Amino acid sequence: MTFAITDTHCDVLWKMWEHKLETFSEHSELTVTPEKLKKGGVKKQVFAIFDPVFLGHSDGWPIIKKQLELFQNTIATNQTLADEQITPLLSLEGAMSLGDDEKRWERLYDSNIIMASLTWNEKNELATGCKEDPTEGLTEKGRLQVKRLFARDIALDVSHLNEQGFWDVLALEGRVLASHSNARALCDHPRNLRNEQIQALAEKQGFIGLVWHPLFLNGSEEAACDDIGRHIDHVAGLGGKELIGFGSDFDGTTLAVTGLEDPSGYCNLIEWLIKRYKEEDVRAFTSQNFERFLNNG
Ligand SMILES: [Zn+2]
Repeated sequence: MTFAITDTHCDVLWKMWEHKLETFSEHSELTVTPEKLKKGGVKKQVFAIFDPVFLGHSDGWPIIKKQLELFQNTIATNQTLADEQITPLLSLEGAMSLGDDEKRWERLYDSNIIMASLTWNEKNELATGCKEDPTEGLTEKGRLQVKRLFARDIALDVSHLNEQGFWDVLALEGRVLASHSNARALCDHPRNLRNEQIQALAEKQGFIGLVWHPLFLNGSEEAACDDIGRHIDHVAGLGGKELIGFGSDFDGTTLAVTGLEDPSGYCNLIEWLIKRYKEEDVRAFTSQNFERFLNNG
């Protein structure tokens, strides 16, 4: 039994920039590599372009441009991905360096990003991230930018957004997902979603890529497949079974679920899931829920 896996978030572009790597191949610093995607049965991988807000750069745009180049020159053209029919997709994580600069946004539209977030954890001129005041909503510029993204059928990623921002985005007409977040009722971290948020995403036919970061699964530095199962059951119990997918955050953290340290570990997760869930549910989690979300446009 084989399962085609979709993963809606990894930070390998950031890692490549950080370590000045110009080729996408096996490297001791990289968790996501073509061979590991192949081994794990990943068929769609979303690659995030990360706006490096925490490094104190006055302007992260040159670093964003470099990650775009890396995607175009080393990932979109990668032979192993082509041979294995693994589709690389592009997203934006954090938009502090873009603000309402349409020229910069155009560059991302031209690169066919399929989703974008307004913030990482910070507050910026568009919105407020999840580590800041939860009651501050989108700014006027932020609201306009979300409308522009929706008009281009680019999904809005709320994984790092604060609570009021989440509700402001949901009030607008367009596709909304959390590319890498879990359930806050099980693990009280601002990166996770409250029950009402999960229910609202279910009503809007959105998507949640569950994230393998142990701190977001159980609040500790270690986690197991059981922890993932608990989040699956919780989201499904809220009427969100059709939301559930995978958003690993590989290369965005050094902590990992035991047995799922890199994409090749998806074999272990599938083995675990198939013992507990119906095959059709596992197929929904691994790829079909995301396909439904993508085609909702
Ligand atoms: Zn993130």
